[in-house]
Amino acid sequence: MSNGIHLVFKAGERFATTNPATGACLADYAIAGVAEVNSAIARARQAQEWWGRTPLIRRAALLRRVARLLNEEKEALAQVITAESGKPLQEALLNDVLVSADAALFCAEDAASVLRPEDVPHHNLALRLKSGRLEWEPLGVIGIIAPWNYPLSIPAADTFAALVTGNTVVLKPSELTPQTALELERVVNRALDDEGLTTLPRPLQVILGRGPTGGQLVEGDIDKLIFTGSVATGRHVAMAAAERLLPVTLELGGKDAMIVLEDADLDVATSAAVWGAMLNAGQTCISVERCYVQRKLYSKFVSQCVQKIQALKVGPGADPQTDLGPLITPRQLHIVEQQVDEARALGATVQTGGRRLRELGENFYAPTLVTDVDHSMSLMCEETFGPVLPVTPFDTDEDAIRMANDSDFGLASSVWGSTRRAERIARQLHAGTVLVNDLISGFAVAAAPHGGVKHSGLGRTHGRLGLRELVRPRYVDVDLMPSMKKLWWYPYAQNFQPMAAFVDMLHQPGLMARLRASLKTIPLLLRRRR
Ligand code: NDP
Repeated sequence: MSNGIHLVFKAGERFATTNPATGACLADYAIAGVAEVNSAIARARQAQEWWGRTPLIRRAALLRRVARLLNEEKEALAQVITAESGKPLQEALLNDVLVSADAALFCAEDAASVLRPEDVPHHNLALRLKSGRLEWEPLGVIGIIAPWNYPLSIPAADTFAALVTGNTVVLKPSELTPQTALELERVVNRALDDEGLTTLPRPLQVILGRGPTGGQLVEGDIDKLIFTGSVATGRHVAMAAAERLLPVTLELGGKDAMIVLEDADLDVATSAAVWGAMLNAGQTCISVERCYVQRKLYSKFVSQCVQKIQALKVGPGADPQTDLGPLITPRQLHIVEQQVDEARALGATVQTGGRRLRELGENFYAPTLVTDVDHSMSLMCEETFGPVLPVTPFDTDEDAIRMANDSDFGLASSVWGSTRRAERIARQLHAGTVLVNDLISGFAVAAAPHGGVKHSGLGRTHGRLGLRELVRPRYVDVDLMPSMKKLWWYPYAQNFQPMAAFVDMLHQPGLMARLRASLKTIPLLLRRRR
């Protein structure tokens, strides 16, 4: 959040966290400087020596144990997450704790099939007397830089995928949500103890601090980086990584479109739009950031959404009655406010909301619905990350597809209406995930890959594709006739014509032509090789 591109370390500095709902100070922490970051990486590398050799069955057992502990501690964990991030307790429970427990179980159950060696069949006749296979080995130490909006589920899913594949992890959480990351570390360490894997050092190391601590992790001796955060920081991190050819996965921002067709169920689609835009006060990378509604349905859609938004209970996330909590910081609120004000100045109509709720606290913004919007407004082209639902009508399916694709981002999107028609549109949308008659839940499907196109990022986390990004393929080829010299070795003299016949034997059209060519290859078999 500090976007620490221009910040530098100050020796011995500390930082404090506050509750976004109340402004109360929660705790303060020492900042990890260059020496601390490098020693965490060194510990992770040492740990990788024993962890990488630990049989997969035991690594999977650890993750099953982690899932069990997350369930046992779900209520206490949800409270820590809510205190740091401001989100309602139910969201902390489902979108952080449950998603993390699901991710742990997925890794435990599916890693074996992803890591199993794969046969590589040989098609060329001359190479048939060899057998090939792909083996997968861990990359080593994975650096994870995580944001504050899903302070448990984002780093947890990445950490579990790294651990099950035999890697170790150095995690730098957001400066706004360090305690949640420390809880994750505690749960993993307890699971290691419970499984009798008490060997030191531990495979998960957490380093706390602001942007420069993350920057130092990128500069450090890691083997891969998974970065989740804004496009600006992601670009900066990717450039630093490119300098040293460090592989990176980037999970960046989104401007997700929701397309509502005239044959959609109005009541369901309006509830979805409101929930999809307001979840976590709109601070979700895959939240609904733009809504396109077919003209026939448009005015009813807007009025139903307004009614449903006005029924939302805004308040502190710790109150179980709350639907919508505060924004994370005044800075984030300011971005939202600026975008809504700019849209208003350019002719947009605020149908509800569009103002701070100072009576609740410094970080509260009323859930907002805006109409008369177009793509000249930053509200429709830059990430808002706030509780704002901009809605605009469209006429034809082609219009909807064109408007949805008119974005620098491509994380996720959704289409609502009769399944066949919605699926036809879904296939034409430029996004890493497209949901038909649902939204956001793709992130909660532990087996589904997560990631975007265009400025939304590079690579994938989650699912089997996410696991594959954490291993290095090794191609192993075994010759089945070790005492035979190869026909294509020296000497070359008088080899060319029989070799040309050999190429014909493999590729000339017609069986007879190939048989004739095969006779001309006999000299190859009779020659003595050097
Ligand atoms: P930031 O880019 O500000 O920060 C992300 C992480 O990077 C934080 O841990 C931050 O630390 C750290 N960081 C900041 N500066 C540097 C630096 N120079 N070098 C290395 N690390 C650095 O994003 P936010 O935390 O504000 O998160 C919100 C953004 O994340 C939104 O754009 C959202 O769309 C995106 N996001 C994407 C997701 C996806 O899966 N595609 C999922 C969730 C969020 P610190 O906080 O201490 O400054």
